[in-house]
Parts: sequence; C-alpha cells; structure tokens
Amino acid sequence: STVDGKSLLDGLDPEQRAAASADGGPLLIIAGPGTGKTRTLTHRIAHLVTERGVAPEECLAITFTRRAAEEMAERLAALAPGHARRLTVATFHSLGVRILREHHAAAGLSAGFGIADPDRQREVARSVAGGDEEARRLVAEGDEQYKKALRALDLVDFDDLIALPLSLLDNDPALVAAYRERYRWISVDEYQDVDEQQYRLLRLLAPADGNLTAIGDPDQAIYRFRGADVGFFLRFQEDFPGARSVQLTRNYRSSALVVAGAMQVIAPTSLVPQRELRAMGEHGDARIGVHHASSEQAEAVFVARTVEQVLGGASFHAFDSGRVSVSEGSQGLGFSDFAVLYRTDRQSRALVDALTQSGLPFQKRSHDRLAERPGVARIVREIAFTAGDSVLDRVRAAAGDDHTAYELLKPLAVECGSDFERFGTTLALGVEVDTWDPRADRISLLTLHASKGLEFAVVFIVGCEDGLLPLRWPGATADDAEDVAEERRLMFVGMTRAQRHLFLSYAGERARSPFLAELTGFERVGDLRPRRRKGGTQLSLL
Ligand code: ATP
Ligand code: MG
Repeated sequence: STVDGKSLLDGLDPEQRAAASADGGPLLIIAGPGTGKTRTLTHRIAHLVTERGVAPEECLAITFTRRAAEEMAERLAALAPGHARRLTVATFHSLGVRILREHHAAAGLSAGFGIADPDRQREVARSVAGGDEEARRLVAEGDEQYKKALRALDLVDFDDLIALPLSLLDNDPALVAAYRERYRWISVDEYQDVDEQQYRLLRLLAPADGNLTAIGDPDQAIYRFRGADVGFFLRFQEDFPGARSVQLTRNYRSSALVVAGAMQVIAPTSLVPQRELRAMGEHGDARIGVHHASSEQAEAVFVARTVEQVLGGASFHAFDSGRVSVSEGSQGLGFSDFAVLYRTDRQSRALVDALTQSGLPFQKRSHDRLAERPGVARIVREIAFTAGDSVLDRVRAAAGDDHTAYELLKPLAVECGSDFERFGTTLALGVEVDTWDPRADRISLLTLHASKGLEFAVVFIVGCEDGLLPLRWPGATADDAEDVAEERRLMFVGMTRAQRHLFLSYAGERARSPFLAELTGFERVGDLRPRRRKGGTQLSLL
C-alpha cells in the first residue's frame, strides 16, 4: 500500500478499479472519452508494482507521443515513488531505439549510430537520386539504394526505428524470448491508433497469453491517413484468446448534454457494441449552441464575441435576441478554458485575425520540427565546435544571444546531462516540438486532430460544413464510407473535449455538416433555421 496506508485503488470508480486491479493475462480496456484512461492505466501499473509485488523492471508502458510518455512517467513518479525510475515508459519509437542500441551489430550499425532527421534524409536520398523530386519518392518508399546509403553513413531514419527491430526479432526467436522475459507486463495507451508495424512489434514482444493491457477507444481512431488501423483493436480478443475485456463508461469531463450530443453523432458508425457513456459531472447551465454565420470572417467574430460574453458572465439561457444574453456569471473561467477547433489549419487564419482585432490572447498549437526551428538548427550544427562538459554548457555556448532557441533546447539539454548521443537521439526523435502550453492564459486554437486527449470548459468547432466536416479533398469524387466514418470520429473527438458549453458553427452558403443532422433528437431543433437580423449574429439553441 502507499505511504498514507490507503490503497492506490481508492481514488478510482468501480469500473476503473476493476480494470486497474485485473489479474495478469491479456486485457482490453474499452474506454470512452473522459473516462480516465490515463488515470486507470497509471494506477494499474502503480498497483502492480506497489501492491502486487511485480518487479518495476518487468513493466513496459508504451505511448504514442513523447508528451504522453512524459505525462505518464510524471504521474507514475507521484503514485509509486521509489519504483518509478525502474519502470520503462517509452514511445514506440524510443523503444525501437533501445532495441537497436542493444543489438546494433545485428542490424549492421555501430553502437553510436545516428538518426537522420528529415533534412539529412533528403540529403542522403539526393545523393542517390540526383534530383529533389526523385529524392522525395525514395524516402517515402523506403527505397533500397537510399537505405544502403543511409547504412553506409551509420544512420537510420524514423521508419527504421520500428522496421529494423522488427526484422531483428522476426529472425531471432532467442531475442524474442529474451525481451519477453524482460518485459513481462506491457501496457499500451491509445491502442486504437496502432499501425501494422507497431502491431507486429507488439505481437512479438507480448505472447498470446501474456500480461498485455491495451486501452483505447475505437470511436476515437483518427489516424487512418497515417497508417493506423482500428482493426487491430477490434480483433484483440482473437489475437489474444481468452483476453478479458472491460469497459469504462463513466465520463468525468463533460456535461450530460455534451455527452448526449456526442453520442448521437457517433451512433451511426460506432465501433463499440452497446456503446454507453454516462456523464458524472454537474454542469447545470451547460448548452450546445449551433450558429450559422454569414461568412467565415463573421464566424470568427462570433467566436470572439462569445468568448468575451462568456467571460463577461454570460450564461446561455436566452438566445432569442440573436445574441448570447448576459445574466449570471460563468465564474472562474479564464482564456485557457476556451478552445477553437477546426478541421484544416487554413481555417485558423480568420480566427487569428478576429481574435487579434478583439485583443484576445490566443495560442495556436502547431507541431514544428524542433531541429528545423530557426535558431535551433544552427545551434545543433554548431554544438560540435563548442566546448563544455555538459550538453547544457555547449548548447549555451552555441546559442549565444538567441534566447528563444536556447529556452527551447534548455530542458532537453538538462535532461541529457553529459550524454551527447542521447541529445542527438532525442532531438531526432522528438521530431515534433509542441509549443502549446496548457497552462498559458490564452485561448487555444487547434486542429481537431491536435485536440485529442485535451479538455476545455468551452469548445467551439468552426466550419461544421459539408466538405470540411467531413472533409473532401479537392478532386475527390465519391465519398468513401470509411473516410466519412473517420471524419465522424473526428467530430466525436472534438465534441467530447467540451466540459460545459459546446458551440458548433458553419458559415455562408455552404451546406451544414451532415453530422449536425444527427442532433435532431434534441428539442427545439427548429431553431436551427437562421434568424435574419440586421448585422446581428444568429444563434440558436438545440
Ligand atoms: P480521452 O479519451 O478524451 O483522452 P480519457 O479517458 O483519457 O479521455 P482523462 O483525460 O484521463 O480521460 O480524464 C478525464 C477527466 O476526468 C480528467 O479531468 C480526470 O481527472 C477526470 N477523472 C478521471 N477519473 C476520475 C474519477 N474516478 N473521479 C473523478 N475524476 C476523474
Ligand atoms: Mg486521454
């Protein structure tokens, strides 16, 4: 038991507790949005090592992003102090690096092999192909000549980090046995988003009757375009015969209204049989509002006005005037409680303009490549020529007056101590740097994809229009049912980010999203007809 004598399972609800305390063997946790997936998974691991006598060294937790891995490691350090350092929390890619470092020779690499960032990849590919256009194709296809050229330089690329360990393990049953012996307890977060290579790696690491816990929500599978396949989640029980499956159905995030609306939208193509999601929170004044703006610009202005009014103390019980009416306060809300979600990055322009003009602070979540950020790239190149014992010394020296780049790199440099190889690896691995700060007192602008896993008191989804949501790429003729289902899941992800209020808007002459039509179960749906008012916004309650 923990320091204060209470069990780790005390802070969990009965469903979460059943999942966290389940015995060994394959376990599938099907968990809807806001049901506490990360909480359940971290408590399970902490419970295993502190209350079940499982050796921390035998535990491997896999996530998809570095940020998720850091968050999980942080929570584990708090839940199971003294054990946390001996647990392994990895992304699929950092796990791949670890396997490759341990068995570099078998892959034809030196112990200090490098990881090529996109610039280097292109450079190597160009040396093979001659031209730029050709080079791009070689990288994308993993061309054999290009890979040979990489190897000759003792380099691997991002794809190799999964593919090479996979082929090492495929050809060496003894190696498979050794890793299975080492990591007897494996858990994977966001299992609905694994791709085939990651899936195959996992199948090698976890025997069919192994202690594998997979958690996720098939209705939030939104990475098909990147090769993810929700089919792996759906056939878990065939892959791991005798696997138990449990569901988490209590949503602690959203108002009952938001949960009901989101459930209506996902229902037509839900991948979870008898999907159930119950709102546990109290949000008496919660509303879903649908707004039809005359143009994209007007839609952005509507967002700005509504933020101002909510912060000014609006509650949404009267929409008849065509404006959000102001009455009792929405106490305690700050800018960080608002998020505006959109399908394509292009849509952020009108929002940036409107928020800037209104003087409202905002931050846009963008995924830049750290190594490609101005300043950082120069520092990374120059670091080789600077002196200093620690990575931090050398980064500081190379950074000079460029404080912004330095502040970016500083945490990483501190983390890497005096191990330069690790710095290089992490830089290449943390390909994307996420500059979004959840604590900043600013309105968040995010794509629907980037909103995954987050929560905000007030959420706007703009551009709820046919062609944008679902998105039809220029030139696309027929709608592929699978594509539309994925877009519907994206809408579901977006809607379930909202804790209290959800505003769905569309603009101009475009037809509103067919997904909005699913909301007809609500009363007062007739109000969806836009009301004509001189210059006023048109807002109606569902
Ligand atoms: P998503 O699928 O959207 O990523 P999730 O399942 O990961 O959702 P979390 O973000 O982990 O959900 O949790 C949602 C919210 O519910 C968080 O604010 C969390 O602190 C809270 N929560 C989770 N479990 C409980 C609980 N047993 N009691 C109270 N609050 C809880
Ligand atoms: Mg989550």
